[in-house]
Formats: sequence, structure tokens, C-alpha cells
Amino acid sequence: MSAILKTYNRKKISFKKGKGSFLFSTKGKKYLDFVQGIAVNCLGHSNNYLNKAIQKQSKKLWHVSNVFTIPEQERLAKRLKQKSFADYVTFQNSGAEATETAIKIARRYFYSKGQPRKNRILCINNSFHGRTIATIFASNSKKMTEGFYPKADGFDHFNFGDHKGLEKAITSRTAAIMIETIMGEGGIKVIPDYCLKGLRKLCNKKKILLILDEVQCGIGRSGKFFAFEHAKIKPDIVPIAKGIGGGFPIGAVLVNSKAASGMKPGTHGSTFGGNPLAMSAGNAVMDIMFKKGFLSNVSKNGKYFIQELRKIKNEYPKIIKEVRGKGLLIGLCLYVDHIKFIENLLNNNLLTVRGAENVVRLLPPLNVTKKEINLGLKIIKKVCKNYK
Ligand SMILES: *Cc1c(COP(=O)(O)O)cnc(C)c1O
Repeated sequence: MSAILKTYNRKKISFKKGKGSFLFSTKGKKYLDFVQGIAVNCLGHSNNYLNKAIQKQSKKLWHVSNVFTIPEQERLAKRLKQKSFADYVTFQNSGAEATETAIKIARRYFYSKGQPRKNRILCINNSFHGRTIATIFASNSKKMTEGFYPKADGFDHFNFGDHKGLEKAITSRTAAIMIETIMGEGGIKVIPDYCLKGLRKLCNKKKILLILDEVQCGIGRSGKFFAFEHAKIKPDIVPIAKGIGGGFPIGAVLVNSKAASGMKPGTHGSTFGGNPLAMSAGNAVMDIMFKKGFLSNVSKNGKYFIQELRKIKNEYPKIIKEVRGKGLLIGLCLYVDHIKFIENLLNNNLLTVRGAENVVRLLPPLNVTKKEINLGLKIIKKVCKNYK
């Protein structure tokens, strides 16, 4: 019997190695992996360049405390700053820590301006910002909060797409709006560019901060380095995580100088966040992602994948309801049960993962080849064909 606490319904399958888009099971089977640790392994499994980078660093220095200056961390922060709206970056170890840090930064901003009661964060119902006590109540899904009361106070909610509800929910106590630019766990729900533009304007008008959670949709996943770049807007605070370490746990928060102004030495910290070993992985991911043509290729392959999936949808309109997504953040919203569909794909050697709203998420590595996409399409088509 497993000694692991039962917080997951795990599949029996285990893997002994991975290479690029493929995983090899302990039973010797080869799988096309379109989970990639849930959008974490942006460069696939066992990437040579990443391997070399962390091997090299591991021989020099793994960990020092943030009480010292860490050059590898300074370097990654500077690079993230150069590629974004941000003036500052702080490093954590996971997405939930990053979103919580984003909340802390927003509250401190108004606190330091003498408005300590302006501390509430407005979020979308059934969103996903992590699994800590604060972030589950930010997400506000019954599934995640049940049994975990008392409630972490300080969050208000509106429904996805409810513009009027959003305006009404903003009060004099609202400090920030926090949403995912593309809702990942929620079933790959893309917030349209005009909404993001409107949201930026609304936050300006109400003098509140805009936090865009790019933990899943950031780091090239959408075809641009950040998903909000599509809408040509600038948020104030952006938590990132999943893709930035290419499989090494890294969380980070990007923040502009205005929003950062409340944070002083002692207001936040992390034992592990931004250690040299983690930073070597992050810097290596940046090296590859900003090579000429990398992101445009993600965009091109994403468009191709989505277009071909829509053809399958048209062929099987009673199975696939909708193809959603941007870049290589793709969801198949189904009429048939997604759990069963995922099982069928697995039995045909394609690994995928569920999302809310009966969605199957397809999250290939960002350097996936067209040939591998075609293999995935072939399997999806075969599974559709075999439905009675
Ligand atoms: C995965 C995810 C998180 C939480 O990240 P963890 O590393 O699991 O804590 C937060 N926000 C979004 C949008 C995510 O997809």
C-alpha cells in the first residue's frame, strides 16, 4: 500500500525516463506526453541544454540564503525585467507562493499609502490560483475550499464574462483585480483581448492594481512570452511559475515600481526562492526561449494544432464541442466524459490531463515538432472514431 497521502487519484502508470515529447514507462511503453508536468516542461523532458546548465551549476554552488546577493538571481531578474513591464522580480518556489506574494504586494501598496483598509482582492469564481489557504479562497471553488474553513477573508468574486458583475463588485476596499490571463485549470478559457484592455482601463479608472496570474499561460505557452502581450496591455503585478524552470521548481512575481513601492526589507522572504541551482535552470530556459524564431514557432505550431483539431471536431461534432486555447495551451471541450476520453487517449499512448468544464488539456512542450503534433492528432482522431 502506498505511503503517499491520498490527495490524488493517481494513474497506475509510472515512468523511468523521458526525452523531449516522449515518456517511457517502467513497463517499456513509449508515450507521447502532452501533459509535460502540466505545462511545466516547456522544453520537453531531459533537454540537453538544461541538463548541461544545471550540471555545471551543481558543481559550483546549489544554495545560499537570500541574505546574500545571488548573481544568478540578479541575472534572471534583469532578463525578465528587460522582456516585460516589470521593474522588479522576487523569486519563490511554486505558483501558489507566487500568487500569494502578488496579493501581499498589492495589500502593502495601499497600506504604505495610508489606506490599510483597501485590502480586498477581486477574483473570478472557480478560477485557480493555487492550493494554499489564501489562494483556495481566492479561487473560490467549492471543491477546493470544502473542509478548509475558516475562510481566508479578503477576497470578492465575480463570474467569468460578467462585466456588470465585475464593476458592481469593485468597492472602496478593493485593492486589486486578480485573474488568469487564460484560465488553465478552469478549462482553457481565454479572456478576449478587448476584455483585458477594458480591465486595464477599469483598474486605472478605479485606481486599483491589476494582477494577471500567468503561472500556467506565461513563459511562451500562448505563443508570446506573456499571454497579456497579445492584448498589448501592461499589468502591475504578474505571478509566474510552471514553465520558467523548465521542470525545476521556480515561482516568481514581476512587479512595476509603483506596485512595488510598499515592499521594504523584512516584508517578505523565502528560504529556497531563487537559489543558484534553480536560477541556472531559469536562465537556461530564457536562453532558448529568446532565440530567434522560438516563440513565433510556438505560435505557428499552436495555430496548426488548433486548426487541425477543429477539423476533427467538425468530423465528430457529437464528441468534441469546442476547441479552445492559444498557442500550445489547448483544451478540447467535450460532450462525452473527459475522464473516459483521457483514458482512451492513454490506452493509445497519448498523455493528456483534465480541466474543468469537461475539458481535456493538451500541453505539448513548446519545442514540439509538427511530426509529433501530427502523431497526437492521429491518436485523437482514432479515439474519436472508436466512440460508439
Ligand atoms: C498551477 C497554477 C497555480 C499554482 O501553482 P503551484 O505551483 O501548483 O502552487 C497558480 N495559478 C495558476 C494559474 C496555475 O495554473
